[in-house]
Amino acid sequence: MNPTAADSGVFDVAALVATRLDAINGRSREEAGLRILKVTEEAGEAAAAWIGTIGQNPRKGITHTTADVADELADVVLTALVAIASIDHDPQQVIGACVDKVTARLDHTYPRPTPPADIDSTVVDPVMVAHYGDLLHEAAHGVDCDCRPQVRRQFTRYVEALLCWLTRDGRLTGPNRAG
Ligand SMILES: [Mg+2]
Ligand SMILES: [Zn+2]
Repeated sequence: MNPTAADSGVFDVAALVATRLDAINGRSREEAGLRILKVTEEAGEAAAAWIGTIGQNPRKGITHTTADVADELADVVLTALVAIASIDHDPQQVIGACVDKVTARLDHTYPRPTPPADIDSTVVDPVMVAHYGDLLHEAAHGVDCDCRPQVRRQFTRYVEALLCWLTRDGRLTGPNRAG
């Protein structure tokens, strides 16, 4: 793939497609709505391709590769840009604002916790860790969540780290301590 084509051309192509559709179909509310629907059509194709990589439908078997899925996701991106242009907004400006928003969140809202190297899990009560781990998971995912053990374990590890830090700093005594 030629990266410069994607870098500079995607917004131009989206504008060109929108202009061409305008010339052929006009730009009624119905037409704009159909261009938005087209995004969900492409998203459905991505879902179908993903199902096809797994062979989840026994009648069809494995019909797609992850490259097919990626192609369909690219269709989603381009059709979304066409839809944005078709409701009189500038895709480049809108995407730029979206990128800024997400970047700001990554930088500020969810700072990655840096656990100290000297976590000693023997200082905390494993029953407490499990209890508060379950509570934290429930608060984040809801009582009915049935997510994978690997995911649940992350909540337990986080609680364990917290209790270890607090215990080490002398901020926690009593029943949270092991033994
Ligand atoms: Mg497609
Ligand atoms: Zn969960």
